[in-house]
Amino acid sequence: MRIPKKMQAIVYRAKNDLRVETVPVPSIKANELLVKVAVCGICPTDIKKIHYGTLPPPRIFGHETAGTIVKVGATVKGFSVGQRVGLHHHVPCLTCHACRHHAFAQCPTYKKTGITAGFEPAGGGYAEYVRVMDFVLPGVVPIPKKNSMVEGAMLEPVNTVLKAVKLLKLLKGDTVLVAGQGPIGLLFTKILTLNGMKVIGSDLLEARLVFAKDWGAQWTIRADAATFTDRVRQITKVNGGLDAAIIAVPSDAALAQAQQLLRGGGEILLFAHTKRGAISQQDLSTICVDEKQLLGSYSSDFLLQKEVAQLVFSRKLDVRNLVTHQFPLDETDQAVDLAAHPKPESLKIVVNQELNHSWT
Ligand SMILES: [Zn+2]
Ligand SMILES: [Zn+2]
Repeated sequence: MRIPKKMQAIVYRAKNDLRVETVPVPSIKANELLVKVAVCGICPTDIKKIHYGTLPPPRIFGHETAGTIVKVGATVKGFSVGQRVGLHHHVPCLTCHACRHHAFAQCPTYKKTGITAGFEPAGGGYAEYVRVMDFVLPGVVPIPKKNSMVEGAMLEPVNTVLKAVKLLKLLKGDTVLVAGQGPIGLLFTKILTLNGMKVIGSDLLEARLVFAKDWGAQWTIRADAATFTDRVRQITKVNGGLDAAIIAVPSDAALAQAQQLLRGGGEILLFAHTKRGAISQQDLSTICVDEKQLLGSYSSDFLLQKEVAQLVFSRKLDVRNLVTHQFPLDETDQAVDLAAHPKPESLKIVVNQELNHSWT
């Protein structure tokens, strides 16, 4: 396979400054892979880094990546040129203290980014080629023939959601509030219902409540409805409140509201409160006396890779419906902008290098 020397990439040069540039195609070591990128999802964590300028430039972002292997390092076993694969940019060592406690996201190896298109490794999916380093090779997942690159690119976000759901001590038939019905909230709604839970979906956007119904929510309520609390209380009366609430929006008001509506011993899971330094007031007795547990979850769980691949590739969880907008590589800035300022009808947005034109 002929590999060019130069490629197009979207380089983050400063806060809110993404540029289409020509950069060298990364070279690989004997224990690494080179992948030609097909699809890369736009993830809120990338948007934050770009909009808040939290990391020093230059970087090439994009970590929900799927593509085709175009070069296999001499000592790499088990992969071949032409294979279509989904990538994980973080993989834990499985042996350190954090890993032995199953806290993979806190593992020092996991925190290193193992995929790059150049500069400081930052995922690299918004480029034509990425270098896949040795320590993330266990996170390279083959995409079956019948599945699309878009599906391959969704393995990582689906994994983060499944990981979070598994943290909750739920029983079949439990009622769970999912606050926020964007792409991630909808994945929560679907995965919970597939596991036998009943979901109340809430969002400020009416259109998202319609999506929530399609994705399995039994009830939907506008987050700003005056009757919100009454309705949730009524739905959950038999069991004394919500069994769990997933806060998939960075909203303290949503958290406070969910805490009130939770039954004693229930669980709240924070999934979108990723901004450091945000202080929130808590009545700690609700945690200590009422045992309303407050949990967090971040990033993916390596041990769930197989289960996630099975869920997505069997289309038991059909992620294709989640992708509403696709952009070519040189319009990545527009893709990021739309993801940052979602329209009622926009859900997951991806950069797809196999497209000739953007479609909206
Ligand atoms: Zn992501
Ligand atoms: Zn580790």
